Amino acid sequence: MSDKNSIIICDDEPDIVSLVQKFLQLDNYKILTCSNGKEALKILEEKYEEIVLILLDVMMPALSGFEVLRTIRSKDFYNNIKVILFTVKSFKEDIEKGKELGADGYVTKPFSGNELRSYIKEVLNN
Ligand SMILES: [Mg+2]
Repeated sequence: MSDKNSIIICDDEPDIVSLVQKFLQLDNYKILTCSNGKEALKILEEKYEEIVLILLDVMMPALSGFEVLRTIRSKDFYNNIKVILFTVKSFKEDIEKGKELGADGYVTKPFSGNELRSYIKEVLNN
């Protein structure tokens, strides 16, 4: 039986991925990382039963976070997986678009690691 305690961090900036990973490990989540949307969908397909949340960068080459989110929300068996989008602060339209596509939350870059930790707890408890 697999624990349902995994979080995917998907961002094309390696520094962001390792920073977020460092913080989330403090809360004992199992962390899976990737640098593009295609990989994120592959991890989801293989491990969706153990995944509670995906932190998804919007601005990525090839497959954007929005496209990944659209795919996730089109499949019923991903229904209980939360999605938080990483957006750049000035991009208000990202938040609107994310809402329409079914995102559960937003984190604007730059962010504070501890705020991110408590925000994730909040989203997971909703
Ligand atoms: Mg990016």
